[in-house]
Amino acid sequence: MNVLVINCGSSSLKYQLIDSDSESVLAKGLCERIGIDGRLKHTPSGKESVVIDSTMPDHTAAVSLVLKMLTDSAHGVISGLSEIGAVGHRIVHGGEKFAASTVITDEVMSAIEECNDLAPLHNPANLIGIRSCRTLMPEVPMVAVFDTAFHQTMPKEAYLYGIPYEYYEQYKIRKYGFHGTSHSFVSKRTAELLGKKPEELKIIVCHLGNGASICAVKNGRSVDTSMGFTPLDGLIMGTRSGTIDPAVVEYLGQKLNANTHEVMNILNKKSGVAGVSGISSDFRDLDKAVSEGNERAEIALNLFNYRVAQYIGSYTAVMNGVDAIAFTAGVGENNPKSRAAICSYLSYLEIAIDDVKNQVRGEEEVISTSDSKVKVLVVPTNEELAIARETVALL
Ligand code: AMP
Repeated sequence: MNVLVINCGSSSLKYQLIDSDSESVLAKGLCERIGIDGRLKHTPSGKESVVIDSTMPDHTAAVSLVLKMLTDSAHGVISGLSEIGAVGHRIVHGGEKFAASTVITDEVMSAIEECNDLAPLHNPANLIGIRSCRTLMPEVPMVAVFDTAFHQTMPKEAYLYGIPYEYYEQYKIRKYGFHGTSHSFVSKRTAELLGKKPEELKIIVCHLGNGASICAVKNGRSVDTSMGFTPLDGLIMGTRSGTIDPAVVEYLGQKLNANTHEVMNILNKKSGVAGVSGISSDFRDLDKAVSEGNERAEIALNLFNYRVAQYIGSYTAVMNGVDAIAFTAGVGENNPKSRAAICSYLSYLEIAIDDVKNQVRGEEEVISTSDSKVKVLVVPTNEELAIARETVALL
């Protein structure tokens, strides 16, 4: 079956058409500037990419253009829409309502809408994507796959905050965690690569990209994760501060004469390694700056590595041990220096990294030495494939 995977943002739409039998990508692409003017980059497998500037007043127009490209005589990969068997939608927030992916019905749409105020930037856009696809492909079954669902197995002591309990009851203020599709995919693949079942293992997944989070996966279930009520919490990220004393929000607001919204904007968009270094959120730029002797870039990377190592220690403690640590996402997959620096904190776990194997970029590899007590792996994530698999499994 061919599954169309849709990841809809407020002015963008990413897609992949995946043949679920061979798990190969038939085509992928990105619509940008929806509602502004409109640009589509479409890449059919084995062919040149095409870029089309075309007016996209709304997401329905964007989906319509995507379907046209998929069936186009020159750039298409299928002969008609009947060759799309299902659509899988990435949904950012499922709140406490969704602990698993689900087939989309009118009731499910309403339940997703009820989570809108937990993710005001993302969920409304995700819903628009679903509505557009339903308008253009009313007969095709659709599945919602939630970023938060994998973490619904966390115990109360991991997800509750130390604030009055009624705020959890009334306003659902708690840790939700994100990147769940990636943590689930990578932890399962890690078990496969080690020739074990997820139920037999304690795994720490380090999803280190521009957005970054860590997840403790015990016996195949998420038991804790570093992002919280929002994706601002936890690790120091590209532009996000990660965990910070909440009193800083008021204090900085007073100093800058800024309101809460403005301070939150600083913590989300102007902080992280970009804010500390004053150079860039991109680790490649920071590595280059360090090699040129830039001290602030070095401080930024040291802060990042230190925080990752702290979480690994913390999650080893809550799982009472760890069998494997998996690195994934842009930095985790492609940056040997960061991996080595993080692992240099972990000799107390009797972890040893093979410096040659650790040079791998973007490929699956066990990078620990054969006598390392804890296995350390690079496992590229593939959220689109995970969504396609979930979609097929549910239908
Ligand atoms: P992501 O958000 O997962 O796309 O990750 C973005 C981060 O990954 C950036 O800081 C990049 O420096 C890093 N990254 C992505 N691709 C590469 C690559 N091929 N080599 C080195 N770093 C990379």
